[in-house]
Amino acid sequence: MGKIIAVANQKGGVGKTTSAVNLTAALGARGYKVLLVDVDPQGNSTSGLGVNKRDLKHSTYDLMVATAQPAEVLRHTPFENVDVLPSNISLAGAEIELVELDNRAMRLKTALLKVRQNYDFIFIDCPPSLGIITLNAFAACDTLLIPIQCEYYALEGLSQLMATLRQVKRLYNPSIDIEGVLLTMYDSRLNLTVQVVAELKKYFPQKIYRTVIPRNVRLSEAPSFGQPVMYYDRSSKGCAAYDELAEEFLRKNQRDRG
Ligand code: ADP
Ligand code: MG
Repeated sequence: MGKIIAVANQKGGVGKTTSAVNLTAALGARGYKVLLVDVDPQGNSTSGLGVNKRDLKHSTYDLMVATAQPAEVLRHTPFENVDVLPSNISLAGAEIELVELDNRAMRLKTALLKVRQNYDFIFIDCPPSLGIITLNAFAACDTLLIPIQCEYYALEGLSQLMATLRQVKRLYNPSIDIEGVLLTMYDSRLNLTVQVVAELKKYFPQKIYRTVIPRNVRLSEAPSFGQPVMYYDRSSKGCAAYDELAEEFLRKNQRDRG
């Protein structure tokens, strides 16, 4: 049974999609079967994996709001062992439409149960909000991977994220846990970074990945070619960082299983 990991932070632009796409690709290249579930209406992880979000017959909208089967939505990608459940702007309506539906927080979970056995890991790329789509992701997942950009306002909003996590734990998903906290766009030359990291260590003891993701222009270029960075520039610092993260992620998961 594949482990389901939601990549979440209600702040936009912190590296959720970049981390979801590149960690997925790095794990796929290591021989793990990986599914990336795009539930952001911006569809950036869809296009980042080379799938044209403008000509989707079905998307994660149809999984959550309508009655499509995952097999109808699923797309293979050119990248080793990586499949995607794509999304596009049609998902924007789901925030409102879901409110009217039965089991409105559990719809993604129900859909993913049907494909879970086909994968080692399933990542959910969340939208930048704590609305009902994100709630579906939290209800469906085993753990949360939280990317945090080391900037002045990095900690703002984290208490709200943690409050949502506690609420989900109580109402929908008692065993939900934090997978890890990932520092992105990291620049150790900045004093601010040191302060933010110190604060985060208090907030999330034991949960911060040793691996940090530096700012790297290749990471920001790769999506416009529809490629994870390891296929776009194997020698980049961004590629090395996500490789290292994949190793740390796997070590941690082996330890948890063993
Ligand atoms: P989110 O999904 O949280 O909104 P993204 O992953 O889309 O964030 O990242 C926001 C922007 O920053 C994108 O343009 C992305 O290409 C860029 N970006 C993300 N991580 C890095 C990095 N480590 N170095 C340089 N640019 C990055
Ligand atoms: Mg995103």
